[in-house]
Amino acid sequence: MANSKIELDDMITVGTLADKLLIPVSSLITELMKNGVLATVNEKIDFDTAQIIVNELGLDVELTKKESTVKENIQKSKSIISASAKIRPPVVAVMGHVDHGKTSILDAIRGSNNASQESGGITQHISAYQIKHNDRSITFLDTPGHEAFAAIREHGAHLTDIVIIVVAADDGVKPQTIEAIRFAKSAGSKIIVAINKIDKEGADVIRVKQQLSEHGLTTEEWGGDTIVCEVSAKNKQGIDNLLDMILLVSDVEEIKADYDIPAQGLVIEAHLAKGRGPVAVLLVEAGILKVGDFLVAGSSYAKIRTLEDTNNKAIDEALPSMPVKISGLKNLPEFGEEFRVFKTEKEAKNYSLDALNKSKQDLSSSNMTGSDLIRIINKNNETKELNVLVKADVKGSLTSVMDSLKSLDTNEVAVRFVGSGVGQIVDNDVHLAGPSKAIIYGFNVNIAKNTKLIADREHIEVRLFNVIYELIDDVKSELTKLLAPEIVETILGKLTIKGIFKTTKSELICGGEVIQGKLSLPAHARILRSNNLISEVEVVNLKKGSNDAKEVIEGEMCGLDLKTNGKLDVKEGDILELFKREEVKREL
Ligand code: GDP
Repeated sequence: MANSKIELDDMITVGTLADKLLIPVSSLITELMKNGVLATVNEKIDFDTAQIIVNELGLDVELTKKESTVKENIQKSKSIISASAKIRPPVVAVMGHVDHGKTSILDAIRGSNNASQESGGITQHISAYQIKHNDRSITFLDTPGHEAFAAIREHGAHLTDIVIIVVAADDGVKPQTIEAIRFAKSAGSKIIVAINKIDKEGADVIRVKQQLSEHGLTTEEWGGDTIVCEVSAKNKQGIDNLLDMILLVSDVEEIKADYDIPAQGLVIEAHLAKGRGPVAVLLVEAGILKVGDFLVAGSSYAKIRTLEDTNNKAIDEALPSMPVKISGLKNLPEFGEEFRVFKTEKEAKNYSLDALNKSKQDLSSSNMTGSDLIRIINKNNETKELNVLVKADVKGSLTSVMDSLKSLDTNEVAVRFVGSGVGQIVDNDVHLAGPSKAIIYGFNVNIAKNTKLIADREHIEVRLFNVIYELIDDVKSELTKLLAPEIVETILGKLTIKGIFKTTKSELICGGEVIQGKLSLPAHARILRSNNLISEVEVVNLKKGSNDAKEVIEGEMCGLDLKTNGKLDVKEGDILELFKREEVKREL
């Protein structure tokens, strides 16, 4: 009998699990690493992984799963599909042990099927793309790591219809292969195995098939139900057959979506693009996403300005299963967040506010990142007001001008009318505007020369318009000036502290191993210990050996100089999360 029982959710952060098991988080991370899972303190692992680790650690603990499982969630979302749903392209993820050829297979698929390859090749990493095979579309998700897939799985496992498990013929089934099989199975995805590198000396396809059988994936030729394709990404051999099999599985599974409901789906990438502001790649799950749609992703609101496919080609609409790049977001959504489209701007804005309030309520109990916090703080600053006085030629136009201006209000900025009226701008208007330094807007009206002189003397601005949209745009640009710039943080990567070398009055020199991402300067760092934020610090220098380093990547060791006032609390085993902080001008 186990000594104690612990009930776990389907996914749990490494830190929380360590707390529940009453063991140091570093032991848990080490044990996970031994099993081929690179997860840091704030990342989530699934119940099955937790179970394996508990066994490996020989702990006298019985784990039980809380009621709602991922599978049930998948069932739930699948049952939402209506009778009028239509076929959509399958969404495919490629997973497997490192170096077994995931990237090469994706490149081979893209290379022979993607027009953009001809004009310049793939230089940039993108998170998803569509290819055509036999005139049918297939969506590929590039899932670079464990973390990405875990997030996709957690937020919408049903989006990954098919997982291709890549196994190198000369290396066989490895820990990450097993992990990938487990992920795919618990996510309810269909599995196709691609035995890769069959061109290589030492390739032993039969041995791989035997190993696969031991893990519950028996090939069809041996009486099982797993489709196993033999490929060589290097020679582009078997790739067409692999794509045929993907289409076959999607036909058998009747992968469908509703097309006539408001678009919804997942954020699979989000970044700041120079001159364009926040840009996100979305995967449409259902409905048709269009330019001009009012969209909320997490708590970020957008009126979609542009839609592009993942070859950067402008498109008007995105159908289910299509990855699409959007611009027009007010701030950066998070990877894995769901998005929805609303009929009106008002509904969308209200929903994003509700989402924001909810996340605020969750603040105390959840692992909010610094950027979430900053977004919330920025949004809840007191509303800033733009004082205006409006004059128009007739009552009707005055009402439309004022109504239009009122609709510009957000929870951060608002138009305040210090006066309004019909007719020419007169001295009294200038006096009214004076105390609050209001801008006087005239629509289809004039101002007498004398009155203009008084206004100039009092430094009161008078702006005259004959086109309502121009007037509104002018007010909008004034409101925009009042918006506080958004502070956006981009996580660079994480590092485990392996040693503290030296502390001076102003600097602490330590060293560690990069466990995720790519570190570079300028950067700040959050110091995390057992899932708790200890403090935040500026990173002054990065070193590889005795040389300054431009960047340090996952798996490498490096030294860091941290700015300190002599009292910085950093210990061996702490996790440093490095991030870049930038100010971004905002738009209404
Ligand atoms: P990933 O880590 O799973 O994405 O693996 P990569 O696609 O980066 O491949 C790892 C290495 O295996 C690279 O050096 C590739 O050139 C090589 N490779 C990939 N596919 C093949 C193949 O079909 N045959 C041979 N001989 N080498 C391959």
